[in-house]
Amino acid sequence: MAGILFIISAPSGSGKSTLVAELRKQVSGIDFAISWTTRAPRGSEEDGREYHFTAREEFLRMVDAGMFLEHAEVFGKMYGTSRQSLDEALAAGHDLMLDIDVQGAAQVRAKMPEAVSIFVVPPNPKVLRTRLRNRSRAEGVMNEGELYRRLSEASHEIEKYREYSYILINDVLDRTVAQLEAIVLAERYYRNGEPIAYRSRRTLEVAAACLLSNSQERLKPVLEAFGIDGSPDQQQLLFGAESDDD
Ligand code: ADP
Ligand code: 5GP
Repeated sequence: MAGILFIISAPSGSGKSTLVAELRKQVSGIDFAISWTTRAPRGSEEDGREYHFTAREEFLRMVDAGMFLEHAEVFGKMYGTSRQSLDEALAAGHDLMLDIDVQGAAQVRAKMPEAVSIFVVPPNPKVLRTRLRNRSRAEGVMNEGELYRRLSEASHEIEKYREYSYILINDVLDRTVAQLEAIVLAERYYRNGEPIAYRSRRTLEVAAACLLSNSQERLKPVLEAFGIDGSPDQQQLLFGAESDDD
């Protein structure tokens, strides 16, 4: 059976890694590509588990050798998906999930237009800031400058939402995990005829509601909160004086 290529992108801190980790626990037959990066490990990250950590020189050598399916510079560091990850998943007939940024997603889509792409957004900038701060505190690694950088990039990334097949608004975690799972099962059903054993109709409805074409109403307040499509208040919302806890 042909594997499906899934792409998931989100502004940093939206909860993408958390969602993917939950999906891994609940759905089998899907591989998760381990990217290469030149950034340093964060918190409890281990080489070969979350990422393959490498030096910039080595990364550029790999680029020259054509080893990457896609690569991009994100927050001043290089990130890339090896061709090997894709080849191995295809050979095994598995689905493959790529957790990559909006630049990498565009590169993969150009090469593989059949890929199913999913964009995750946080409900608003204040929640994003709180999540980034909480993660940073828990890991004791990311400084305020890095946090500011990731926050300021968020609305530029969110502007690309129209390029994706599905939209997830990661508000209540359990609900978003269920939506992500429904998307994977629905795509398997439509593309490969794989039966959905449990509550199939509901699963297909949940997935359909997350299609880009059905997400405009849900997205409207999110886009407004990030100052996209008109609102001028983005900077104040991102960097305003409110405390994290309010
Ligand atoms: P990303 O991979 O998108 O950068 P993470 O998965 O690391 O983001 O999540 C950022 C922080 O937000 C983490 O501390 C995580 O536990 C928390 N988080 C993720 N999703 C939710 C959610 N739905 N509600 C509350 N906190 C969340
Ligand atoms: P982080 O440093 O928070 O782990 O990731 C920062 C950003 O890099 C996220 O948007 C993440 O999706 C992206 N990223 C992670 N791996 C890859 C990759 O292999 N390629 C690309 N293009 N982006 C990646």
